[in-house]
Amino acid sequence: MSIQTVEIKPIIPSASKNFWQTYRQSRLGIAGLILLLAILLTAIFAPLLAPYDPKSSEGVGAGQVYNAPSAAHWFGTDDAGRDVFSNFIYGARVSLIVGFFASFISVFIGGTIGIVAGYYGGRTENILMRFTDTMLVIPDLPLIVVIVALTRPSLLNIIFVIGIFGWTTTARMVRSQTLAVKSRKFVLRARAIGAGRAHIIRHHILPLVMPILVVQAVLVVSVAVLNESTLSFLGLGDPTALSWGQMLNYAFARGAMSTGAWWALVAPGIGIIWVVLGLILVGQGLEQVLNPRLNTHHLMPSRPTIKSEAAARSGEQVLLEVRNLSINYINEGQAPACAVEDVSFTLKEGELIGLVGESGCGKTTLMLGLLKLLPNAGQIVNGQVYFKNKEITTLSDDEVNKVRWRGISIVFQGAMNALNPVRTVGDQIAETIIKHLPDFDSAKIPARVTELLDLVGIAAEHKEQYPHQYSGGMRQRAMIAMALACNPEVVIADEPTTALDVMIQAQILELLDQLRKKLGLAIIFVTHDLGVVAEMCDRVLVMYGGVTAEYAAVDTIYNTPLHPYTQELLKAFPDLTKPKKKLSSIPGYPPRLDDLPAGCRFAPRCPAVFDRCRTEQPALHELAGELHVVSCHLVEAIK
Ligand code: SF4
Repeated sequence: MSIQTVEIKPIIPSASKNFWQTYRQSRLGIAGLILLLAILLTAIFAPLLAPYDPKSSEGVGAGQVYNAPSAAHWFGTDDAGRDVFSNFIYGARVSLIVGFFASFISVFIGGTIGIVAGYYGGRTENILMRFTDTMLVIPDLPLIVVIVALTRPSLLNIIFVIGIFGWTTTARMVRSQTLAVKSRKFVLRARAIGAGRAHIIRHHILPLVMPILVVQAVLVVSVAVLNESTLSFLGLGDPTALSWGQMLNYAFARGAMSTGAWWALVAPGIGIIWVVLGLILVGQGLEQVLNPRLNTHHLMPSRPTIKSEAAARSGEQVLLEVRNLSINYINEGQAPACAVEDVSFTLKEGELIGLVGESGCGKTTLMLGLLKLLPNAGQIVNGQVYFKNKEITTLSDDEVNKVRWRGISIVFQGAMNALNPVRTVGDQIAETIIKHLPDFDSAKIPARVTELLDLVGIAAEHKEQYPHQYSGGMRQRAMIAMALACNPEVVIADEPTTALDVMIQAQILELLDQLRKKLGLAIIFVTHDLGVVAEMCDRVLVMYGGVTAEYAAVDTIYNTPLHPYTQELLKAFPDLTKPKKKLSSIPGYPPRLDDLPAGCRFAPRCPAVFDRCRTEQPALHELAGELHVVSCHLVEAIK
């Protein structure tokens, strides 16, 4: 099957057009936008729209105190004979200025705290979130009233005080979003290609947190407008700036209620409701458009080591050698989870090894461990990883960065999640080159991106498209192109065909096989499907419950499997030569990694289990002759 260039029609012609198309589907959002635009334009063009000077009764006429609405004064006049409509128009200016500036301060503080807490985690997160929680339980309005009362009631003070007390909700939401984005594959990829924290936050976290910031900013404006109105109504507003709150204060204080001059109260009240309602509706519309579907042990005594294959196969160029690698997840207050234990294998130039097992058996943890990309709780507690005879588990982050992508690269599972949705595919491939090959001539980067896309069968015109404009197969091809960006010698393909239909799966597998032959790549192919690796792999490592169940040449695994788990996996694999063969599934589930059985980890599901299996963990037995390693008590009888 040849690699076909896939032609696709752009799903979305442009981001801005799509934004408006989605936004306008929200009727509430449109209504809010109309309300908000009307009041904004009124405030901006106040000097043109206001029929009278809001600061004096000049021009209104003598004796016009608390006149009811009329053709001359649409909203009537106030206690000083001033035109209420003119006051209303100028009041919108002051209320909105306070609202927007206070919102900016709140969102800036909340956004910064949320991103730093979410991204850095650990102690930083604990301190920042405890502080946020404390601020959250303190009722902000009484505090704002007290502080403004104790300070000079200027507009600037009011903006600042409202701003610094309105950030807590934003901080919590942004922190949650940052945590979700941080664990996305494209952030992991950015870390893998050596991007610094500032770069990751600016280019990968912030764009995906921005929708929350925008929606929050809009909503916080309404809270700020309400707070300013409350302060002014209580007599704590800036007496030189006539806001809607000030209008209410003057009307109440100067007998509008007792004289029946309701218009002096209704006009500013309508203004406040108008703005708050408009902002809430716009917030809903924005949320519909912007809310992205981010769219989220124990240290065992060392067991017998498999004899080094490198030594056994002396003379062959071994690129990667993993020796007795053990990885634990250690979370405070919880039992450590032994995700990988005592796993060993080697990889030669141009070889393809299949890493097979059910979900949760430690495959992905093992792969992340090879690149030192484990999450914070993950720790390599034993063993070594040699890349071209250089031990990499002991290297510093900077040193490992030189190995990542240039020596060993990774194709993450779930290409949609592994690509940043707000950056073009070409841009993301270029980023990999820039980060890992700083000496690469920047003028040649576009050509190199085109070359890489061509290598994986994607036409150059798709370079400037976004991941959502790619089909599933194209996204996976783009991930492979990215993995090849720095000419690595080893590529880890972590379940690259998951969620793809069978035809596309076949194309991706063929692409990987062709690239291996063309570029001399060594590939570790991670999958839960033994069938997928049958034709491509040289050797297969079957993992179960974090340990090696069986490790052998692919023919041995398929023809003479010795571990009951491998045998059961093969029974679940359809055989085209035996169409009547019944497929079976393995009853039960893999063990929890923080609650492993005392003996063999497969014992609760093993059809051949016997007493010893439940108390004694089987050793890794290496059979004579060809490489064949099995961890099962039954093998002792045939050794
Ligand atoms: S050691 Fe026992 S339980 Fe484990 S795979 Fe072998 S026979 Fe089954």
